[in-house]
Amino acid sequence: MQMHEYVYLDNAATTKVDPEVVSAMMEHMLVYYANPSSSHFLGRSERQILENARQKLANYINCHSNELVFTSGGTEADNIAILGVAKMQSEKKNHIISSEIEHKAVLSSLGELERQGYSVTYVKANRDGIVDPEEIERLVRPETFLVSIMYTNNELGTIQPIGQIAHRVRKYGILMHSDAVQALGKIQFNVKDLGVDMLTVSSHKIHGPKGAGALYIREGTAISSMSFGGNQERGLRSGTENIPAIIGFVKAVEMLQADFWAQNEKIKNLREYLEQSILSQIKGTAVNGCKKNRISSISNVNFNNIDSDYLLKRLSSEHICISSGSACQSSSMEPSHVLTSMGYSNDSANNSVRFSLSRDNTKREIDYVLDVLVRIDRDVNGEM
Ligand SMILES: *Cc1c(COP(=O)(O)O)cnc(C)c1O
Repeated sequence: MQMHEYVYLDNAATTKVDPEVVSAMMEHMLVYYANPSSSHFLGRSERQILENARQKLANYINCHSNELVFTSGGTEADNIAILGVAKMQSEKKNHIISSEIEHKAVLSSLGELERQGYSVTYVKANRDGIVDPEEIERLVRPETFLVSIMYTNNELGTIQPIGQIAHRVRKYGILMHSDAVQALGKIQFNVKDLGVDMLTVSSHKIHGPKGAGALYIREGTAISSMSFGGNQERGLRSGTENIPAIIGFVKAVEMLQADFWAQNEKIKNLREYLEQSILSQIKGTAVNGCKKNRISSISNVNFNNIDSDYLLKRLSSEHICISSGSACQSSSMEPSHVLTSMGYSNDSANNSVRFSLSRDNTKREIDYVLDVLVRIDRDVNGEM
């Protein structure tokens, strides 16, 4: 492997922007620049472009275009959903149910509500990394107004039973939100069949540009604005829309649509090859979380006796990019909150890393990674 080459297996943190996405953005930016809120003809044509993009995303997840709000990404969409519906509740409705394995964008929004006096119950994941819909229903109180559970966990790739959870809680008049950032492009879902009231998606996890995302909000959902300005995006996200990024996002969505099955099959085969080879060539390794109910791209592996920080550094020096858990956490030395929620000891969580693949990876790259992993294991654990 030459110096300028590298193997990127950190696609759950972010993905490479597709060249076709870049072209679509460039073509737009080189010609258009008007503000879609301006009433002159250039502004009106920009507005038309924005609304066309919204309609395409709406078609993809099966909602009305007026049920979609473009945001700066997944984090902002999670914040708007959680803080925005909380603000609309009467004093008596002050309880939320979520899980311990959510992304920090959800956990930190909920933490802010707890500081404001709301009460939040966090369910644990089982040893498979999956939450239990029955347990969530048992925790419902008269004061509960929101349930927020992620569709796909970003550290394990495990798929949560969102349809079942929505079905169980919505009969009590409780709103259901799901962070589907890691599900978009990996699961073919549709918001109407899922039965959720709100759903978060993000562009840069699907080969789109950073700085774009969207929140689906079911028509009729009471939600209040958390930021203030020119009232763009139904007043929920003021500020001039980032149209180049939105165009790139929607182009990336269209590319998913084009060959969803072929891409996911390819990624899954590579992931299985990587995983099976690690398990058979490196003693004491194990896959964390459910192997079956999982998206195609993620593998979370426990390396016996090898600290994840050390493993990441060694791999990085061989030009291999992976993460331990989520990218947001990897600079802090804390063990993964997802693995500890599943009952793993701190030691065991600290020996775990995440490989996340994309359609750009090749078998040759995986073979190189396997060679390096075997070498590192020999250095730490000696010859078998
Ligand atoms: C990446 C990610 C986010 C944050 O999305 P941004 O667009 O980076 O703000 C939220 N939730 C999950 C599950 C993610 O993987």
